[in-house]
Amino acid sequence: MTSKQAPMNQESYEVYNPADGSLVGSVPAGTPDDVNNAVSTAWEAFRSWSQTDPLDRSKLLFSAAQLVRADQKDLARLLTREQGKPLRESMNEVAGFARVLEYYASISGTLKGDYGLSKTYGHMMVVRQPLGVCAAIIPWNMPVLIMGWKIGPVLATGNTMIVKPSTTAPLTCKALAGCLYRVGVPESVLQLVTGSGEVVGEALARHPDIKSLSFTGAVPTGIQVAEHAAKTLKKTILELGGSDAMIVCKDADLEAAAKGAVSGRFFNCGQTCTAIKRVFVDTSIYAPFVRRVRELADALQVGNGLLAGVDMGPVHSKRQRDTVHSLVQETVDNRLGTVLSGGKIPDSDPYAMGSFYLPTILTDVDPDAPVMREEVFGPVLPISEFDSISDAIERANATRFGLGASVWTHDMRTISRATQELDAGIVWVNQHLRIPPEVPFGGVKSSGLGRENGRYALFHYLEEKTILIHP
Ligand code: NDP
Repeated sequence: MTSKQAPMNQESYEVYNPADGSLVGSVPAGTPDDVNNAVSTAWEAFRSWSQTDPLDRSKLLFSAAQLVRADQKDLARLLTREQGKPLRESMNEVAGFARVLEYYASISGTLKGDYGLSKTYGHMMVVRQPLGVCAAIIPWNMPVLIMGWKIGPVLATGNTMIVKPSTTAPLTCKALAGCLYRVGVPESVLQLVTGSGEVVGEALARHPDIKSLSFTGAVPTGIQVAEHAAKTLKKTILELGGSDAMIVCKDADLEAAAKGAVSGRFFNCGQTCTAIKRVFVDTSIYAPFVRRVRELADALQVGNGLLAGVDMGPVHSKRQRDTVHSLVQETVDNRLGTVLSGGKIPDSDPYAMGSFYLPTILTDVDPDAPVMREEVFGPVLPISEFDSISDAIERANATRFGLGASVWTHDMRTISRATQELDAGIVWVNQHLRIPPEVPFGGVKSSGLGRENGRYALFHYLEEKTILIHP
């Protein structure tokens, strides 16, 4: 099934396991009327939810996190079945969702206002109030964690929320909402409207009574969403992906860097916005680095994510897999790089029904090749070499994206320079891909606008009101 499949009938979308094509479940195909109803219900709920004590909201979020942890195995199995990722990754993602709720539960109500006393103006107060009804549009690649990032700060600040999950991975999001309802979060406070982006997503973006929209997905969709949101004066957060560079310097711990490259690229079958999508290696260690990366990548077990020992599942859809394969083909056909490993669709029996692609390493890749400049959302690792750190930073920045980047070295001068000059929302040193709930997350350039995660997200969901009282 493709990720842009039409509904089987006018009322529902069927969800298929990308590993074997089996039916996992179905969700209703929502309509603009469903969005209108959800918005009025959410405004009604906002009146009382925004007045609840932050401590009570915290208790609910803590209880929900506890329930999610108790149901972790079932939720993870469902996530693997609908999304394809290995069970171990699904377990971590579900735990990550719980951790995000716990984090926001622990800081709910901590963002206070301000006060000053002036002879001229009297008491000068700034209070922070919730916005009202907020919405989120969620993709299929990390639906659980991304839903946590979006609902955590919204619910903690007393706003109400409407979520549109992806049509191809909506089931775990629905089950997670169920966990929140079971502990007492009203269904009117957190609503899910399932259905396509063109219908439900667009109706949310265009709705005049939604105050904030947080979107994660592709750049063209994000721009379209932002245009509609601007016309209705919504605050927007856009997380539009990346083409993260990894710079491996000559003094780097080679083993740690090789392992970092393989896990940073092939995790979630390469379908992560902050995955390592380009590697630049100092010429003096290029050969041993490439050799070790190849050994590690070739050892990855590819298969159905439900099976023990599987390291990498299928690409989420055949459409996505074919896009990835054509980018690899284009690189080879135009002599812009060489396939060292993988580069093909496995054709033997266990893979026949799924959208699998082998872990692929491309070497000696031309820095101007499309695989180096665009976001390749699949298991493809292009590697090239550099002579100087200036050259490496320049190449790392030579993309329209600016989500993340990492530098692997222990030299303080290089660390200081690279962390300043790399054009990205997050820069890692000797690690990649790790994002604790405490830090802000978002990109520069075409990677998006605004920040999610951390206490910084609370600022987005609260509006300052100035009150001046003359005695
Ligand atoms: P999309 O941007 O199309 O989908 C992301 C979400 O937006 C889905 O929920 C989708 O709904 C919804 N959507 C689609 N069209 C609209 C619209 N007109 N108005 C409002 N919402 C809409 O991404 P794709 O799934 O097509 O993936 C394409 C590429 O995007 C990937 O190859 C990757 O490069 C990038 N991507 C980046 C992600 C990231 O983490 N930054 C996540 C996902 C994709 P629907 O259910 O109909 O798909």
